[in-house]
Amino acid sequence: MAGNRTFTMIKPDAVEKGHIGAILEQITASGFRIVAMKLTQMTSRDAEKFYEVHSERPFYGELVEFMSRGPIVAAILEKENAVEDFRTLIGATNPEDAAEGTIRKKYAASVGENAVHGSDSDENAQLEGAFHFAGREMF
Ligand code: UDP
Ligand code: MG
Repeated sequence: MAGNRTFTMIKPDAVEKGHIGAILEQITASGFRIVAMKLTQMTSRDAEKFYEVHSERPFYGELVEFMSRGPIVAAILEKENAVEDFRTLIGATNPEDAAEGTIRKKYAASVGENAVHGSDSDENAQLEGAFHFAGREMF
């Protein structure tokens, strides 16, 4: 089953702008089943850990501050080929490069405040899902 799951966050910018409903609608209409979901907020320590792989990058401090500044929707999603198909659905990291109709094209403001997260591998999907959810919160 792990290969059919991915992890997403609707980031603070998209929550602030009231896009939770529209983004969830696009995700479920694209064939993803919601396995786990919650409205939550990361502490700056949580965001540092979640994005540890980027700790040497110049945008790390800004990213941690952004991702912990307000609530997010965290979710585990299931679909055949989930990781790759979800990356296609959200579009490129920079909304200027994102394909028409993708979630980032529609809702992201910049390369930093880009509306949604999507795991980049099956292994990271598993780790990121477990970072936010206990086993009994997955259905
Ligand atoms: N990010 C940023 N500046 C950059 C690249 C990335 O602020 O130049 C932020 C952005 O929020 C992005 C996150 O860091 O979503 C993680 O970067 P990654 O390269 O993993 O992009 P993603 O996998 O989210 O498309
Ligand atoms: Mg990434």
